[in-house]
Amino acid sequence: MATIDITNLRKEFGDDGEQIVAVDDVNLEIEDGEFLVFVGPSGCGKTTTLRCVAGLEDVTDGSIEFDGNDVTDQRARDRDVAMVFQNYALYPHMTVRKNIGFPLRLSTKQSTEAINERVEEVAEMLGIEELLGDQPKELSGGQQQRVALGRAIIRDPEVFLMDEPLSNLDAKLRSTMRTELQELQSELGVTTCYVTHDQTEAMAMGDRIAVLNEGELQQVGTASDVYRSPTNEFVAGFIGSPSINTFTAEVEGATLHGPGGFEYTFDDPSVLEGHDRIRVGIRPEDMRLDADGGMPGLVTVVEEMGNENFLYATMGEIDLTARVESKMHPDEGMSVDFGFDEEDIYLFDIDTQQSVKTKTSETDVDYRQFVAND
Ligand code: ADP
Ligand code: MG
Repeated sequence: MATIDITNLRKEFGDDGEQIVAVDDVNLEIEDGEFLVFVGPSGCGKTTTLRCVAGLEDVTDGSIEFDGNDVTDQRARDRDVAMVFQNYALYPHMTVRKNIGFPLRLSTKQSTEAINERVEEVAEMLGIEELLGDQPKELSGGQQQRVALGRAIIRDPEVFLMDEPLSNLDAKLRSTMRTELQELQSELGVTTCYVTHDQTEAMAMGDRIAVLNEGELQQVGTASDVYRSPTNEFVAGFIGSPSINTFTAEVEGATLHGPGGFEYTFDDPSVLEGHDRIRVGIRPEDMRLDADGGMPGLVTVVEEMGNENFLYATMGEIDLTARVESKMHPDEGMSVDFGFDEEDIYLFDIDTQQSVKTKTSETDVDYRQFVAND
């Protein structure tokens, strides 16, 4: 097992001509046994960061330490890491047994019996002991993914690196595999870095989540931290599904004036000091229909989800999404007045996009209820 220290990590691609900064001064300490998820939009540097940790990329600057030992210049095969990728290329002409045992045959001088024993142990852990004699083409997507996992865990590595390992699976299987992977990881206690572009997956799986954007680390924290206390408007917008509603408002004393007649007067206006204009954020799940709130909406679409309704509305030029109880079913085309609580309002600086105010509600919200099932 190992801690991973990433210090001032920078990775540029390209030579003198056009330089791409894929990873820009990332600092992160990953604890022993932790399940850390890197999340961010496509192209934000997740894969590159992971490949630097694996030793598959030379870093431009900065260092990587495993358990306090500098591995920055160590080759991938000298680092005790196992990787699982989205395209888990199994060897097509090898049986499951051979596929799982492959890393051991390659890297150790263990006897065939010892390797077989270890393969069976791993297969049992993954519930695929029946499949050991099969060829990859005989397996379902989920079974193939388990074999790929088996091949990764058989060496008992210090570090797991997983790059969107579940992306190729259908939604139902993906959610089963998420749970299985988490259970397996906590059972093995192996420090794990997991990459996904899917914030739902990140929220559901990570002990902590590292949010990246344009090569820069935006925030590291628990799901609750990044949901309730995002450092900036990007994190607030990326975490949470459906996305937070945001718009610009003019500040006049204690009152905000926004698009389409939005108006709200703060009980505690101290947060507004020094701002003439400000960005306002209200999450869909914090909007209500049973109270007057000063947030006028024109309902355009009502989407029934069974246990709740998604309302799509416009407020002036702004599109709004509200997540309300299933009994709340306004007609399409109806004018409504959404309510919300001051403690649920987010505010962001209009120039820096940094958070000025985030959720202050004391209530212990189960943020996972807000994570839409995909
Ligand atoms: P992500 O995994 O978050 O989608 P990547 O780490 O793959 O992002 O890419 C980050 C940035 O680096 C992107 O702009 C991508 O085009 C660029 N990049 C990645 N790999 C290479 C490479 N081998 N050569 C040049 N540019 C690359
Ligand atoms: Mg990637």
